[in-house]
Amino acid sequence: MNDRPIHLLLFGPPGAGKSTQTDYLLQHWNLVPISTGALLRAQVARATEIGKQVSGILSRGELVADEIIIRVLRARLDALSPAQGFLLDGFPRNTPQAQALDQILHELHRPLHAAIFLELGMAEAINRLGGRRICHGGGADEIIHISDEAAVARCIERGGLLVQRPDDLPNVIIRRLAVYHAQTEPLLNFYRPRGIVCVVDAAGSPHEVARRVSAALEQMTRAT
Ligand code: AMP
Repeated sequence: MNDRPIHLLLFGPPGAGKSTQTDYLLQHWNLVPISTGALLRAQVARATEIGKQVSGILSRGELVADEIIIRVLRARLDALSPAQGFLLDGFPRNTPQAQALDQILHELHRPLHAAIFLELGMAEAINRLGGRRICHGGGADEIIHISDEAAVARCIERGGLLVQRPDDLPNVIIRRLAVYHAQTEPLLNFYRPRGIVCVVDAAGSPHEVARRVSAALEQMTRAT
């Protein structure tokens, strides 16, 4: 398994720590991270045609049209070399996207090996997202929680600003969670019959969750 490229997807409610867990996974697994949210935010920042089309949608916490996001994802997957595995974060978000992913992976001869589901209660998700800030400026961006006094002090000391993502505002958080429950959570039943779902408890410190994710993944890839 180790010398073959591995193809994974990570899903769960907003706030479950998908990008944090991606960072941990990249330390031990040879994977290219593909975050559709990050790809879209980059398009917004560069004010591309797609960026202009989606910026309002992102700040309202709604889903970008399937046709657009599938095109963005397809282009990213096409750019991978055959030896590179990938870790999808934020895609698919609904059943039509999951069906499109099946089709793309079939065409690229890349089977999906595992779908890691980060499970987190609604109250904890709201707490994490509502307190999430990006320390911006004075070095690389760092994601911190507003209740982490040491991290806040470090940010101020290095001359950074504490920025809140527009989609982390309270009314937008509620909308993102509602969209998640209605459209993304049902993907559990889409992937379960294939025997590739790893359910991981996403409560606790990032380090603890990372240990659980790694253990689940080791087990899954040994069995594949
Ligand atoms: P994320 O960083 O994954 O929370 O994504 C941020 C925002 O990007 C989402 O709230 C959506 O507006 C948009 N987005 C990211 N991935 C997708 C997707 N697969 N389908 C539709 N919209 C997406």
